[in-house]
Amino acid sequence: MNAITFDVEIKGARKQFGSNVVLNDINLEVKQGELLTLLGPSGCGKSTTLNLIAGFLEADQGDVYIKGKKVTKVPPYKRDLGMVFQTYSLFPHMTVLENLSFGLKLRKVAKTEQKKKIDRVLELVKMSGLEHRYPRELSGGQRQRVAIARALVVEPELLLLDEPLSNLDAKLRHELRAEIKRLQKEIGVTTIFVTHDQEEALSMSDRVVVMNAGKIEQISTPTAIYNHPETEFVFQFIGKSN
Ligand code: ADP
Ligand code: MG
Repeated sequence: MNAITFDVEIKGARKQFGSNVVLNDINLEVKQGELLTLLGPSGCGKSTTLNLIAGFLEADQGDVYIKGKKVTKVPPYKRDLGMVFQTYSLFPHMTVLENLSFGLKLRKVAKTEQKKKIDRVLELVKMSGLEHRYPRELSGGQRQRVAIARALVVEPELLLLDEPLSNLDAKLRHELRAEIKRLQKEIGVTTIFVTHDQEEALSMSDRVVVMNAGKIEQISTPTAIYNHPETEFVFQFIGKSN
């Protein structure tokens, strides 16, 4: 039996920018292999929470643990995670292939092995055959697929997705929702997904964390959030989508 049951833990995190308390006593546990979504209105602290986990920000109080190890002082590049942002984070002067091999080269993965890994992730995100395109030659949805592939190709312990679908049109958003969900289960990578879209959160996640003004309102399965909102805020916020 593995003694560690959580891939990520945040204990008592507090973060303030000037006099603005952005996170107030955040406690969160992310289980191995689950897709957990941080859901809440713009400005509630979702990205800040994700950035604490990624290591781009440090909490004023509290700690972050990954696989049971305190990482509060560990820099992002040593945290073994893949991250995708709302705006396209591909290198514009590199082809799809070069974007994908970048992280593998850094990790000194052998050439033949690189090709195998790249072929596999491109197939997973349905981008096979487009290896030699530049980001400007791809649609928004294709770029986000490549960004997800680039995050996954190094086989990270943890996948962090910060509103990766928010810039896409409705049809594509629905399509990619289903794909991310399928992909996540297929690979089994522990994933933290951020969105302000109730429907997106409820349709994709194993569990949802509803946030409001720097605090966690409720952590439950989508069904429980929908059927048994525990606070007035959750009731109102989830109700909005209907
Ligand atoms: P969300 O991702 O839920 O929209 P954020 O975590 O980005 O919210 O931001 C939460 C709050 O913190 C907002 O009020 C935002 O303006 C503020 N904030 C975020 N980053 C910074 C920063 N680097 N400096 C000052 N204020 C910030
Ligand atoms: Mg954000």
